[in-house]
Amino acid sequence: RSNNLQGYAPICLGLEDFYTRRLYLRIQDCFGRPIASAPDAWFNVVERYSNDNNKTLKRTSKLSRCLNLGSYNYLGFAAADEYCTPRAIESLKKYSPSTCSSRVDGGTTVLHNELEKCVADFVGKPAAIVFGMGYVTNSAILPVLIGKGGLIISDSLNHNSIVNGARGSGATVRVFQHNTPSHLEDLLREQIADGQPRTHRPWKKIIVIVEGIYSMEGELCKLPEIIAICKKYKVYTYLDEAHSIGAIGKTGRGVCELLGVDTADVDIMMGTFTKSFGSCGGYIAGSKELIEYLKYTCPAHLYATSISPPAAEQVISAIRVILGEDGSNRGAQKLARIRENSNFFRSELQKMGFEVLGDNDSPVMPIMLYNPAKIPAFSRECLKQNLAVVTVAFPATPLLLARARICISASHTKEDLVKGLEVIGQVGDLVGIKYFPAEPKKQ
Ligand code: PMP
Repeated sequence: RSNNLQGYAPICLGLEDFYTRRLYLRIQDCFGRPIASAPDAWFNVVERYSNDNNKTLKRTSKLSRCLNLGSYNYLGFAAADEYCTPRAIESLKKYSPSTCSSRVDGGTTVLHNELEKCVADFVGKPAAIVFGMGYVTNSAILPVLIGKGGLIISDSLNHNSIVNGARGSGATVRVFQHNTPSHLEDLLREQIADGQPRTHRPWKKIIVIVEGIYSMEGELCKLPEIIAICKKYKVYTYLDEAHSIGAIGKTGRGVCELLGVDTADVDIMMGTFTKSFGSCGGYIAGSKELIEYLKYTCPAHLYATSISPPAAEQVISAIRVILGEDGSNRGAQKLARIRENSNFFRSELQKMGFEVLGDNDSPVMPIMLYNPAKIPAFSRECLKQNLAVVTVAFPATPLLLARARICISASHTKEDLVKGLEVIGQVGDLVGIKYFPAEPKKQ
């Protein structure tokens, strides 16, 4: 119990399931009510997203207009964009919201082919295949890429869609310590002798899976080191760029561009359209042979309805803006803005004494709460002051590493950021999460 939580007094209980031996977490208030069911702390219903970007109307007990510091709308394309939105509306009229068909049975429009070409060119690979959902891209592709007799070596903090895809593949899965190349190398050395050719070893195939920016950590992948190890041991690399594509790199081309990695060295590049491009869906980019193989074998391509045409058009248009092909320099401005906004917000939070994870330039900014019982207090108190933030805990993070995760957008104005900092500063004092001494304010 914590005195400064003003009556919340949340209690956190770890319960072990008798049969599965899994640990469950229950957070309850002092009256024994599970806090997850408290509608004012979680699962708020959004009434509308307003078109002055990134402000959200949320329904709590009453309607309130909130500054949104929790959405993945990194470049601000999700709210009515002067270039993308009219084009998405046109495609809605022309093709309807859904193709009502799979890609192979009439669900491939001109837009689908254009999107695949556009994505492949943008990420720097010969070909790409797109899917209607980012989550499915990982969970459905991995079982096609690898199976029994194969080995997946996965970063310990990879996203749940990767975890499920890896489990569903039937391959053996080993996990290396988060973003620790030396541990990856230890695991590989255990499995194969240095320098053996791809076929001469106990595994049919080995794939190493990492993320560009880790979604709960805001941390950049140590990609150059990891690629060097993968090349040394001649294993395949799979890079999930959900949070990095569009958001970082000089021209928005993600972690490879930022860290100077040649995309030819990454065998399978995965990403989603749900963040920087303000749309829906996901992609895999790779060699022509790989993509051709996936098109004929991946059940999620053969049996699922193709990505919605307006969603496809939104991505094509957003990429055009990023590349300046809309005839403006808005793309370059957005990229400069997200970097500036992210670095400003991160350093101000640190000056206030918060423990903030992640690297410079990353728009994902976890503020550590540690104690999961602090989550509802943090989120409610922010909402009371019209600030919408995302809080995350077990099982999305380890049990005692609960956090609030701020996502910064190019569409946040300086005033938005200053307001956000002010509210988080006050709530941080109330909840007791300023773990470092604050830097004295400059006069
Ligand atoms: N990969 C990563 C790293 C993610 O963080 C997410 C979701 N945020 C996904 C895949 C799934 O993407 P989507 O939400 O577009 O389905």
